[in-house]
Amino acid sequence: EISTRDWSSDVCSSDLFATLADAGSRRRHAVLADSLNDAHRKLREQALADPLTRLPNRQLFEERLAEALSGRHLTDEGTLAVIFIDLDGFKPINDSFGHAAGDSVLGQVGQRLRALTGADELAARVGGDEFLMLVGHPANRERAAQVAQRILRAISVPYALPNGVEVNLSCSLGIVLYPEHGPGHKLIANADAAMYAAKRAGGSSYAFYAPSMDQDATLQLELQHDMRAAIEQNQLELYYQPKVHALSGQITGVEALVRWNHPTRGLIMPDAFIPVAERFALIGALGYWVIEEACRQIRAWRDEGLRMRVAVNLSVQQLRQDDLVPRIKRSLERYRVEPGLLTFEITESVAMEEVTVRAFQALAGVGASLSIDDFGTAYSNFAALRKLPATQLKIDRSLFTDIQDSADALAVVDAMIKMAHALGLKVVAEGVETEAQRDLLLALNCDEFQGYLYARPMTARMLSLWALDEGETHPVDFRPSLYDTQAAELI
Ligand code: C2E
Ligand code: MG
Ligand code: MG
Repeated sequence: EISTRDWSSDVCSSDLFATLADAGSRRRHAVLADSLNDAHRKLREQALADPLTRLPNRQLFEERLAEALSGRHLTDEGTLAVIFIDLDGFKPINDSFGHAAGDSVLGQVGQRLRALTGADELAARVGGDEFLMLVGHPANRERAAQVAQRILRAISVPYALPNGVEVNLSCSLGIVLYPEHGPGHKLIANADAAMYAAKRAGGSSYAFYAPSMDQDATLQLELQHDMRAAIEQNQLELYYQPKVHALSGQITGVEALVRWNHPTRGLIMPDAFIPVAERFALIGALGYWVIEEACRQIRAWRDEGLRMRVAVNLSVQQLRQDDLVPRIKRSLERYRVEPGLLTFEITESVAMEEVTVRAFQALAGVGASLSIDDFGTAYSNFAALRKLPATQLKIDRSLFTDIQDSADALAVVDAMIKMAHALGLKVVAEGVETEAQRDLLLALNCDEFQGYLYARPMTARMLSLWALDEGETHPVDFRPSLYDTQAAELI
């Protein structure tokens, strides 16, 4: 029996069949057809391979999945599993070390996935840092979980970059089982939803699909839809969180953090909608609203007699927009705001991208100051940092949450602060929650603090009350308490 389903007309024509039939040898006919079929399959596999990893691409994966589902290579009682794999921490590597380094890492990921692919499994690369794995019969829950664990282990082995640097990655996995987790045409989408659930839970793990995960995807679509109205209907609001001088406890400025007062869902935090805005190309409009509103508020405070520095967060997409700088200038002029009162916070991984370095310089040209946000979450080197016109570096709370218990954490933060100071950067510790953290950070000569220990983000009205009050309630010098801390030994 010859299946013609994936024969294309240039390889197999009905003429060929006729000739073969005329030859009178049914057996030879079948053998030849088989080898043609094989050759053709190989050609297609080559054409449908991802050039970087040599793994099948999405199209080929979908074809093979359809074949597997149609029972061509699986017995009926067998189930199968699809695992969606998305790398955690790939973007910072790509951004910090360049695309050649990123490609090298993807190539190595491809090799590792291929190496652990068994006879009835198929690995494919389906997007930037996204891969799929088909696990054939028998693919029950246990077997799928085992494969997922093998993938997690393989991906977490350090990667050597072409420049000799070693980097670490993990991945988030979403697993669907057929038929229990959906019809064939929904398997990949459902595996994707499960992967997102694993990622949101912190990554470096796997999750089996559950119907509630669909709702997350639906929620994203709804938010995206509602967000267009949110900007026009004034549902967005800026909250402000103080940054305080480490020694005096006096307010040095605030960070503007956007909130969404949704008419039916209530207050929505930026982590829930900024990624949606970024994904659906709405961040430009949202970002301009934030800049305009921050300038309006600076002016309003100024008129109240409060001279407040405001930091605004910028997403990478905003930095790529040609009209960013002119629009900032327009907002500054409209509200007669001194550019020096405005700071832009750009996350470390974004700051290291070459495209954005130019935008960064243009922003500095406006007279605003620049701050590197979430420092310590990517792979910047200080040499690269030196080239940026930044004046402030914010160290991420993940670096110092366990600083009282971890000598390593302490040493890392100590070195970071020393190097930042050597480069003339002021250091803000962001997310200071406990006095123990504050005391240690102070002992390490951190310049400013921001965190729940001092104040949560609050409305503009609350902030003016806090700032006016603050001079009396926070004239604190914490220094004496540090001599009985772990940090004293280090210094
Ligand atoms: P970020 O810029 O790193 O802002 C700091 C986040 O840490 C804020 O979360 C803040 O509320 C939170 N935080 C401050 N102190 C503490 C603390 O002591 N403990 C803990 N656990 N958290 C603390 P928020 O307001 O939810 O904002 C989250 C992220 O959303 C921001 O991170 C920023 O990346 C983004 N974002 C906020 N507003 C904007 C905006 O207007 N534009 C853009 N592009 N991104 C924004
Ligand atoms: Mg920030
Ligand atoms: Mg931050």
